[in-house]
Amino acid sequence: MVLRGWIMLDLLQPHIRNLKMYEGVDPTEVLAQKAGISGDKVIRLNGNENPYGPSPAVSQALGNFNDYNLYPDPEQRTLREALSSYLDMGPEYIIAGNGSDELIDLTLRMVLGPGEKMIEPDPTFGMYAICARICGGNVVVVPRNEIFDIDLESTRLAIDSQTKAILIASPNNPTGNTTPDWQIEQLLETGILVVVDETYYEFCGKTVMPMVREHPNLVVLRTFSKWAGLAGLRIGLGVMDPDIARVMMAVKPPYNVNLAAEVALLASLENLEPLLERVRSITSERDRMYSLLQQVPGLTVWPSDANFILCGFPQERGQDMVNGLAMRGIFVRYFSNERMKDHARISVGLPHETDALVEALRDITKDMA
Ligand SMILES: *Cc1c(COP(=O)(O)O)cnc(C)c1O
Repeated sequence: MVLRGWIMLDLLQPHIRNLKMYEGVDPTEVLAQKAGISGDKVIRLNGNENPYGPSPAVSQALGNFNDYNLYPDPEQRTLREALSSYLDMGPEYIIAGNGSDELIDLTLRMVLGPGEKMIEPDPTFGMYAICARICGGNVVVVPRNEIFDIDLESTRLAIDSQTKAILIASPNNPTGNTTPDWQIEQLLETGILVVVDETYYEFCGKTVMPMVREHPNLVVLRTFSKWAGLAGLRIGLGVMDPDIARVMMAVKPPYNVNLAAEVALLASLENLEPLLERVRSITSERDRMYSLLQQVPGLTVWPSDANFILCGFPQERGQDMVNGLAMRGIFVRYFSNERMKDHARISVGLPHETDALVEALRDITKDMA
């Protein structure tokens, strides 16, 4: 008898079988094909990638390294030491991951059992819900208020004996705002695990990391994907109570961070100043982009602490605006859900990309009037 697809699917856990895939960013060739243009005309403002690329020190270090035949250190000794000086936290607090995505997954697998609850203040980064569902957990969505701040009262009311964790991106993706320390402190007092995802920390300098020393139920995540231009090499980090870190060392795959990523990270940290200079270019370009967007009629532009800006379009116009940009070779992040469907998250690119974006938006809104 031939096994049919549906019989195979029956073998899968029900919560796994129906999982929806994370919508990541498409490769440039795919975007070029969608717009009917050549790859070098594509403007990628949809993935919060670093338009300046990795540090020049990285390709040199990768080329000079000769030991790719060896396994990386499962205890991440060199990595954790280097990260320790960068973060000013002891190495026993630190775990490196295959992007911060892996650390979200590992953290949730450590706390969330089938049927238990994870809270996410919505809208936020899509991976939290996906990782929670892979654990068989229930995602409790608590809407952020009208200015996208966390609604502490509703959050507290949503916590019950089944609630294990809350995941907070700060600055939040896609809204760009940070959560103040006092709110994090109040959430820590509830006793559930509070994960603060500081993926965009370097673009604002606001952090709760030092609070990990006093709060064993706080986990802070960072990444080298955005500010250091290493998204393609996959390296992030988690800072947490040393007891939790010890357990996470046992949960993680032994060689989760590959040697190329390690070499790249060390080269980036040894030569920080040029990278920080680029971060400053990105934040000043963000401020320029913010004021240019504000001058486009019909747009609502949200202030941002990150390397992207959330833009609201006229009602029922979001999809058309985003399509109009794509036809002009400019790709931004669109959200199809009810609350965000007339919004796009636009990454800060190079100055000429900002200019092209603003010109295209003026063009499209003129056609709509
Ligand atoms: C981009 C992003 C990540 C993923 O970072 P990686 O280190 O590339 O896995 C995690 N959290 C948020 C909020 C992000 O925007």
